[in-house]
Amino acid sequence: KLHNQLQETKGNIRVFCRCRPLSKSEVVAGCPSVMDFDAAKDGDLGIAANGSNKKSFKFDHVYTPKDDQVDVFADAAPMVVSVLDGYNVCIFAYGQTGTGKTFTMEGTQENRGVNYRTLEELFKIANERTETNTYNISVSVLEVYNEQIRDLLAIETSKKLEIKQASEGSHHIPGIVEAKVENIQQVWNVLQAGSSARAVGSNNVNEHSSRSHCMLCIMVRSKNHITGECTKSKLWLVDLAGSERLAKTDVQGDRLKEAQNINRSLSALGDVISALANKSSHIPYRNSKLTHLLQDSLGGDSKTLMFVQISPSDKDLSETLSSLNFATRVR
Ligand code: ADP
Ligand code: MG
Repeated sequence: KLHNQLQETKGNIRVFCRCRPLSKSEVVAGCPSVMDFDAAKDGDLGIAANGSNKKSFKFDHVYTPKDDQVDVFADAAPMVVSVLDGYNVCIFAYGQTGTGKTFTMEGTQENRGVNYRTLEELFKIANERTETNTYNISVSVLEVYNEQIRDLLAIETSKKLEIKQASEGSHHIPGIVEAKVENIQQVWNVLQAGSSARAVGSNNVNEHSSRSHCMLCIMVRSKNHITGECTKSKLWLVDLAGSERLAKTDVQGDRLKEAQNINRSLSALGDVISALANKSSHIPYRNSKLTHLLQDSLGGDSKTLMFVQISPSDKDLSETLSSLNFATRVR
């Protein structure tokens, strides 16, 4: 149903807001929640902070802390059919560090996220179509840090990688590892290999991952035996760097450069999506590695889902408002 709605009504960008629960330590500290979820079912989110006017935001769907990974995947699942039908798709999570981007995309062993569920669904539907179609599926795992692309499946991860445009217009990265996968267990192994490579060379994995974009690219090649038609499509699954602004006093040297690169790529992403939403004649894909990489899967007839992740706590209010404003701008 969502698949049809996407094509027929509102363009190809959908924005979902997901609010994490208050953490144990927030509960212990008595942090109040500023969220009003009364109309969350209709996509309305209210922010009711003490001493300021109530603000409201509208999304395609608002997920409250009570919604689980299965609920969230319901909105991503129709994208799988699109990918197998030959469309390019991009699904990404945006928000302040600690709001659940990785929880939504990667999830945990017990609470698998969008990445795993999407691939599971991909194999499920591909297997239902074996009489008509043959699918070849491969996965690349990369990281963009300080405007540099790192191949997390390569043996030599420090090799410099560049984006090239093929004659038919599609973008690719020469030399990147594309791991062929035939079942979900192989996918799981590839994802594990990617996350362990991410940890190498960083002394604090959590800090490092909050400052880099983690990107999975699923390539699907399909051949229809009946019509002879071949299609190639790309699905990007992206866990973005944290959107928070660092306190000016904290930011010097390497950290300053990092922060500037994060700001640059996230605002480039916002610029691209809002240019697409406004049907602007120039879409500034080339302003960051992130948008350049995603170019094939943002705009045209491709489909985009964004999860804007937020914290319910009053102490995060200003970052929450800034994320909600970003998401509103692209909607
Ligand atoms: P981010 O990737 O945005 O920095 P994380 O995904 O690491 O944030 O989430 C921070 C913490 O909050 C983690 O311990 C995660 O398990 C927990 N968390 C986030 N979202 C949820 C949720 N919807 N339900 C339960 N726990 C969550
Ligand atoms: Mg994370």
